[in-house]
Amino acid sequence: MRLRQVDVLAHERAAGDENRERAQNIGERDMRLLAEDRALLVSEIVALYAQEPKLRDMRPSIVRGYLNPPQSPEECIFSKTTDCLSADLHKEITPCQFGGDPDCTQCGCLASVALDMVGRHRLGRVIPVRSILGGSLSIGRRVRRFRESRTVA
Ligand code: SF4
Repeated sequence: MRLRQVDVLAHERAAGDENRERAQNIGERDMRLLAEDRALLVSEIVALYAQEPKLRDMRPSIVRGYLNPPQSPEECIFSKTTDCLSADLHKEITPCQFGGDPDCTQCGCLASVALDMVGRHRLGRVIPVRSILGGSLSIGRRVRRFRESRTVA
């Protein structure tokens, strides 16, 4: 099956046939799919969607989002609408669950691409949901600042 081949190709590219032990020491960066592998994987999942019951949550309209994921945390509806805490609940993980400085162009988060698709939807074919959400978040931030200023005063 081609889907399995993509997985094997990605692994072998990172590991190299001659030195599998070295693969355990290389960084996550080297394990990322190349753009053409990602495109092949998406096309395979879309093609198999109707046949494989285990893929029933991988709707083609959502999976195609992996070809054009949010380009930054600022564009990512998922990161803007969720809070993520460390395991001890003491530290906020930002800007998203991956923390630090994520490379959004490589994102494999289903929630991220699914919410991006929702954001692209136009209500009444006119207003993008992303705009409404952006307005709502902006109002929320102002209300929070106002409340915090009253608490400090
Ligand atoms: S890495 Fe993924 S989940 Fe995190 S901000 Fe970027 S697109 Fe969103």
